[in-house]
Amino acid sequence: MRAWEKNIRQVTPYVAGEQPKDLNKIKLNTNENPYPPTKNIKDALKHQSEMLRLYPDTEATVLVEELAKFYELDKDQIFVGVGSDDVLAMSFLTFFNSDKPILFPDITYSFYDVWANLYRIPYERPALDENFHIRKEDYYKVNGGIVIANPNAPTSISEDLSVIEDIVANNQDSIVIVDEAYVDFGGQSALPLLKKYDNLVVVQTFSKSRSMAGMRIGFAMANKELITALKNVKESYNSYTMNYPSIVCGAEAVKDKEYFYETLDKIIATRERVKSELIEFGFQMPDSKTNFLFITHEKVAAKDLFDALRKEHIYVRYFNKPRISNYLRVSIGTDEEMNEFLRVVRNIV
Ligand code: PMP
Repeated sequence: MRAWEKNIRQVTPYVAGEQPKDLNKIKLNTNENPYPPTKNIKDALKHQSEMLRLYPDTEATVLVEELAKFYELDKDQIFVGVGSDDVLAMSFLTFFNSDKPILFPDITYSFYDVWANLYRIPYERPALDENFHIRKEDYYKVNGGIVIANPNAPTSISEDLSVIEDIVANNQDSIVIVDEAYVDFGGQSALPLLKKYDNLVVVQTFSKSRSMAGMRIGFAMANKELITALKNVKESYNSYTMNYPSIVCGAEAVKDKEYFYETLDKIIATRERVKSELIEFGFQMPDSKTNFLFITHEKVAAKDLFDALRKEHIYVRYFNKPRISNYLRVSIGTDEEMNEFLRVVRNIV
């Protein structure tokens, strides 16, 4: 072994869902939005290209201003980053600096343990109950921080705001991060709790409800002190995380409220229709408050269904992990895509 090898940071990376090069697939595996982003961004991109010569605004002012208006917060309560993965990673680095373990559920977004390992943060993973719900008492123990995805992924389940409040209220000595990547599809946001608790950080993304996964925009909302701490860590790492087009197009997406709500309504309606059809085929699934369904069938093994769908060019997500290895996570696509999905599933089942 060469001497320097032991100095190399050993990490096991997160594995993202596959991005097939061939666009003829029906892609229901990474919870992207099937509809395009607001048309307004086309104009924004056309007129702003000369700005690419310059370094972008490190404060992302136009984007932060629009978000502050939309969520009725002060500008200094918002931190933006390159997707919520960037914002969450930065939050782990900023807020989870104790020797005590941080807490997050056994079944949740599979990036949390990757960041904890990357930053050498000890962690414990209290088990969700048999219906994949959080047992709030599990979060009453001493900890170095808490991260909860609400709605959760891949289960699609949204906890009542009272559960989140209970966890925040019982942990005022640590920071509680609530990852609300899917909240716009029917969950209850913890945002109103910001007025009451100073240990709460709410993280959201443009990748799902705002149809901009390719732009990479995420944001955190918290009290000014926590946002300043996040900014200081970011500025100690890379001043220019967000590129100019993301800042400008992100601002346009927030401005177009009408299109935002219209798209959400369409996806929710499709989700509910697909859900009832799947139940008719014998599937079971939790009540989804996200843009995906977490489905299981007594007679058809999830892995077999995954393979069979793939042969028909339909991509969904399978997790070969304890407790969820007989489930598939199916993103909600357009009505046409979901009709084809249902047709193929009906034949297989
Ligand atoms: N949180 C959860 C729960 C997610 O499922 C995802 C999507 N993979 C993210 C955060 C990150 O999304 P993005 O970086 O695209 O904002």
